[in-house]
Amino acid sequence: MTLDESTSESLFDRAKQVIPAGVNSPVRAFGSVGGTPPFIASASGALLTDADGHEYVDLVGSWGPMILGHANPRVVEAVREAAGRGLSFGAPQTGEVSIVEELVRRVRPLQKVRLVNSGTEATMSALRVARAATGRDVVVKFAGCYHGHVDALLAEAGSGVATFAMPGSAGVTEGTARDTIVLPYGDRDAVTSLFAERGGEIAAIITEAAPANMGVVTPPEHFNAFLAETAHAAGALLITDEVLTGFRASAEGYYGIDGPTAGGAGSTPAGGAGTADGAGSAPAGGSDWAPDLMTFGKVIGGGLPVGAFGGRADLMDLLAPLGPVYQAGTLSGNPLATAAGLATFAGLDDAAYAQLARTSSTLQSLVADALSTAGVPHVIQTAGTLFSVFFREQPVTTYDDAKDQDTAAFGRFFHALLEGGVYLPPSAFEAWFVSTAHDEQIVDRIAQVLPAAARAAAQ
Ligand code: PLP
Repeated sequence: MTLDESTSESLFDRAKQVIPAGVNSPVRAFGSVGGTPPFIASASGALLTDADGHEYVDLVGSWGPMILGHANPRVVEAVREAAGRGLSFGAPQTGEVSIVEELVRRVRPLQKVRLVNSGTEATMSALRVARAATGRDVVVKFAGCYHGHVDALLAEAGSGVATFAMPGSAGVTEGTARDTIVLPYGDRDAVTSLFAERGGEIAAIITEAAPANMGVVTPPEHFNAFLAETAHAAGALLITDEVLTGFRASAEGYYGIDGPTAGGAGSTPAGGAGTADGAGSAPAGGSDWAPDLMTFGKVIGGGLPVGAFGGRADLMDLLAPLGPVYQAGTLSGNPLATAAGLATFAGLDDAAYAQLARTSSTLQSLVADALSTAGVPHVIQTAGTLFSVFFREQPVTTYDDAKDQDTAAFGRFFHALLEGGVYLPPSAFEAWFVSTAHDEQIVDRIAQVLPAAARAAAQ
């Protein structure tokens, strides 16, 4: 049986006439799993309803922001109330002060923060600050880490770049590509020898705090602390990208898991870190380390377009008009976005993180049981409450590992779940996202469909 998707199909046909591939972000086109993407008409709690009236349990959550579920009444009311007071001022407003105070309170390394409109803008701006601060050009990134579609950071990026097996992007100049050095994730020796050879040219290392755009890869123990130490010894900076992990992996993002353990508001990890199938263990807090700059997005806007970058005050004060680094935005600090973000933070208390951790681990067990029963090779990896499922036997530690999985089996699993009313990320390289609206009943709905989906994957 296949679902009647005639409305979505005709919308997709219309879209393709005027929007490249019919979508405004590549992975939405279902390119790697095939078929027509359902056009979403509405969403509430853990559920999506498409234009043909089918209901799905959503495990995408708009790729991370909807941590309290869709159309959360408190968030919607806050946005409605803010909208009544005006949509954008292009001038300072209270909400942006309040939300940045919230960020600074929750994340220890943040002394000053600036708001932007997306994660891409956040990483692009952090990079600019790092280059200005050091007077150096070169940036080091890791294969499989995605930092948005910043020219300098597209080489061997994960996410959509992985989904479509692209090495990078056309349209990035040679000069830009030359200033980006890509290393295998987790490879301390590669980092050490690069810094021995070219340390004096390197402005910054940028890394996802925990990679989650090639599927979820648990960082090796103390790896981020090692990167900070290596960068600092050479006069370079460390930028940890918490656009995806921020306020999701734990209350303090991944820094709440692998940052120093003593003190710090909200630093208690809500979930451990490791591989669900038993191979991993939670890294201890390690040395007293901190990134120089951090980037955020997704959760902090509660579903509206927001990003943020921040860190050491001396670095952030390089921004215009205090300093020489230009960075600006017509809609930055938008009152609706800050209202949505603040209302989201209001719902993110210890109980919310405890629930997210429980739901995430229940779902991991259900998926592992279903796939094991059907004899489908798989490994589930976590970073706090974040997890993803790889269709291969061995743990994934690098981008090469992540690419070496049975994407066809994933495609069959994906479509069987979709038909059964469960909407997974349409790519084998993405994390699965749960929300506080994923209650027992919702998890039961997923549990009902998993055995058949696992059998489909096994075919
Ligand atoms: N950095 C990371 C780690 C991300 O996961 C993403 C998006 O998925 C970005 C940056 C880019 O954010 P945006 O899509 O808001 O530009």
